Amino acid sequence: MAEYNRVSECVGVITLRNPPVNALSAAVRQGIVDAVQRALSDPNVKSVVICGQNGIFCGGADIKEFGSNMTGHPLIPMIHAIESANKPVVAAIEGSALGGGLELALGCHYRIAHSKARLGLPEVSLGLLPAAGGSQRLPRLIGVPAALNLITTGRHVTAAEALQLGIVDQVTDHNTVDAAVKFALSVAGRSLDPRRISTHPCPQQPDLDALFEEVMQKVRQSARGAIAPIACVQAVRAAATLPYAQGMERERELMATLFTSGQARALQYCFFAERAVGRWRMPSGARWDTSKSRPVHKAAVIGLGTMGRGITVALAQTGLSVIAVETQEKQLMEAKQAISGMLERGAKRRGVAPALDGVIYSQNIQAVADVDLVIEAVFEDIALKTKVFQQLSAVCKPGTLLCTNTSALDVDQLASETPNPELVVGMHFFAPAHVMKLLEVVYGPRSSPQAVATAMQLGKKMGKASVAVGNCRGFVGNRMLKPYIEEAFFLLEEGATPELVDQALEEFGFPMGVFRMSDLSGLDVGWRVRKGDGLVEPGTASGRFARIRQGRRYSPLGDLLCEEGRFGQKTGRGWYQYDKPGSRVARSDPWLHSFLGAYRAQHGLVARRIDHQEVLERCLYALINEGFHILDDGIAAGPEDIDVIYVSGYGWPRHRGGPMFYANMVGLAKVLERLEHYQQLHPEVPHLQPSSLLRRLVASGSPPIHKWGEAIKKLHSQL
Ligand code: NAD
Repeated sequence: MAEYNRVSECVGVITLRNPPVNALSAAVRQGIVDAVQRALSDPNVKSVVICGQNGIFCGGADIKEFGSNMTGHPLIPMIHAIESANKPVVAAIEGSALGGGLELALGCHYRIAHSKARLGLPEVSLGLLPAAGGSQRLPRLIGVPAALNLITTGRHVTAAEALQLGIVDQVTDHNTVDAAVKFALSVAGRSLDPRRISTHPCPQQPDLDALFEEVMQKVRQSARGAIAPIACVQAVRAAATLPYAQGMERERELMATLFTSGQARALQYCFFAERAVGRWRMPSGARWDTSKSRPVHKAAVIGLGTMGRGITVALAQTGLSVIAVETQEKQLMEAKQAISGMLERGAKRRGVAPALDGVIYSQNIQAVADVDLVIEAVFEDIALKTKVFQQLSAVCKPGTLLCTNTSALDVDQLASETPNPELVVGMHFFAPAHVMKLLEVVYGPRSSPQAVATAMQLGKKMGKASVAVGNCRGFVGNRMLKPYIEEAFFLLEEGATPELVDQALEEFGFPMGVFRMSDLSGLDVGWRVRKGDGLVEPGTASGRFARIRQGRRYSPLGDLLCEEGRFGQKTGRGWYQYDKPGSRVARSDPWLHSFLGAYRAQHGLVARRIDHQEVLERCLYALINEGFHILDDGIAAGPEDIDVIYVSGYGWPRHRGGPMFYANMVGLAKVLERLEHYQQLHPEVPHLQPSSLLRRLVASGSPPIHKWGEAIKKLHSQL
């Protein structure tokens, strides 16, 4: 809805009312049309102000309408009616003007923003483009380069930047609506022609072709297969080269292609999935809306290595006091310097003061006595972690939550070593912890709902995509990664190269293929885990049986590379070669290719031609299959949890929605059929054996992803 009032005798004020963000639903659009007509036909009204209730101008289109047939008054003629009005219309922008909200404001003759407001055209992040004239008006207003930047990235700008770019005419620290009314009075009666953006050409730009060519190349590179950013460039090009009416036609055509694309569906699914994971639930029945979190004012981090440093920064940046504990003096000094540097750089980027005083360093665990929550990040060693947890239980005040950042150890086992297992949860961060968006909050059977709620709340405060998951080896993300990596190793044995596998995965949209990724994170990490699992065997045994360990196919390729001292980027050699240790540019390594040849010969393997499709099917379907096991086990509450984990922490291309959404798009029957096919060819590989949940979902008619939860519940009750 939109409410209409007359103020100061002669200003018509139209207030959008649609909580929480005044989205442009059919009712709001109709309300605006009616109110504008009223204001224009009232001879006493000299000018008009459009604003939003509750300090928010407008968050854009109503995404919920996207899935249905849109009815009601369309946006484009509504904005045209505003722009062609013969009385000045001023947008009073508080809070945010995003997407359709900004397009509405661009149709107004003037824009006044509050200093704390944010503006942007984020449609690209939903697989779309600003198709209510935004792609045509913004370049006309602020020039092609700036408009391209905003529209292709979807980034939000502050009011100050909007003023600098020329998107808004005035910024105020005071009441925005009052300022807009005053402004509207001051411009009443002035000619509106110069203010109708659509009637002007784009500002002159030298060498337009070269500019678009350069931008298109950059966008193609960073889009990694996403089509919306490319369509955005094409739409802006239309604004720069065609009259407005033809540009609008091009905007409409491009939008029509995007709107029905699988990518837009995937990106919109991600948008909703990210919200859905906040509504966590545990198998015990505990849920987000019935579990109260505890306030956390003071936190501690134990162990200031790679992870502890990033976690300290993430906590301090949210305004918490942090006690950072490290036993090794040298490590402590290095950590202090590293953490201060990270805080300073982060503060500079965000234009705030660094929270250096928020961190207190200590070598003594007694220093954490009065904190509300501790995050332990010492070496991955169960005996050490148990000792630390016992010390913490003795030192901390009653009720302090004890969290572990373990990657693979059993959170339940750690909890059982403390007098209050209900206070223990996993907080699994990803490196670098102050940058990576993902946080897995791992609960055990004894973790209290309050502990989970507190960790989830803290994750949210740190700006993380926080997902509550059950306790199992590798939790969700790393558990699914294991079969994916193993398949990549098997493909090498059968004839592929690291380059081929990586290229297939990168063309699919991952920022890095599996081998470039493992060179970056260090081959020794997995080697140590496999050694701990008793999988690594010395010697040069050959033949099929040398590659069966613990009853299943095993590839020792990674172990052999580690034995050669090839740990990846840090040693300058891994699956690729690098100019020097620590260098990042991966180059093909002839040594590796002859090593693979010799390895195959030793084991009697005959290399065959492997294509991209096989790489994708074997690696991705094995990973997805594990996802179905995880859903069946109740480790993840729903497919959205898995998908958010993969999109925010593992580089799964967002425009493909996450692994479970992708399986749904491909078709569950197809995924099952291909898994069965590969399982027949590789019977000694258990992770290719289709999960019983996948089979049962296919047998029950492959319900769409939003119905999986219901279907899983029904299937479980039938067991
Ligand atoms: P790290 O080796 O870089 O750092 C561990 C630090 O803990 C060292 O500085 C060590 O001196 C310190 N330490 C050891 N005992 C201590 C004690 N009793 N009190 C205080 N400090 C102590 O290790 P990391 O890579 O930061 O990993 C830490 C934890 O995070 C591990 O459990 C690991 O599995 C997990 N993790 C690591 C990553 C990663 O990518 N590195 C990702 C997710 C989780």
